[in-house]
Amino acid sequence: MRNIIFLAPPAAGKGTISNIFSEKYGYIHISTGNLLRNINNSNLESKVSSLLKTGNLLPNEIVYEVLDDYIKGIKDKPFILDGFPRSIEQVKHLDKLVKELNLSEFVVIYLDIDYETAMNRALGRMVCPKCGRNYNKFIITSKPKVNYKCDVCNVDLITRSDDTEEVFKIRYNEYLKETFKVIQCYQDRGLLHTINAAEDLQDMVDKIIKIVEV
Ligand SMILES: [Zn+2]
Repeated sequence: MRNIIFLAPPAAGKGTISNIFSEKYGYIHISTGNLLRNINNSNLESKVSSLLKTGNLLPNEIVYEVLDDYIKGIKDKPFILDGFPRSIEQVKHLDKLVKELNLSEFVVIYLDIDYETAMNRALGRMVCPKCGRNYNKFIITSKPKVNYKCDVCNVDLITRSDDTEEVFKIRYNEYLKETFKVIQCYQDRGLLHTINAAEDLQDMVDKIIKIVEV
């Protein structure tokens, strides 16, 4: 199995697919956001948490240090990079790391989704406050059996407070602006595989498996 870089706008299904890959196929899911929020290096910890609290972007040097350490600790398991690289500078850093650690070339998966579909998904999201299961009122396969109730716990589902159209629009546009060059760069190298993220989840997983198995 080859290592994967996931590039996807918000609500394209990246989180769900990453979960399936780690549960079923033994992938390690490296979300740089989570990694930086859960640092256990005391030197970096206070620095990072104060930067995150003030909403500042972390300098690349810190992101590199944390990410490099983590990847070096993985050894031979396949992994998914989620949230990295987000700029050409970060692409170059990753190139260096691949050389240094003698990693095989990444498969870059771009989950392509149009604005309307992504927004419907984001706005339809509901979560069970008790068990954490995710539902979506706009996706047939993810709808709860009884409206607004968890299938397992039978408690009322809640929506995330940041899932509003306004917030979604900002995140979606920022994402495209930020990663456009990264997508272009991997396309030029012939490493980009575009998957239609409006498709059924299982179809997407099947397609990705075929690509990474080679
Ligand atoms: Zn539940």
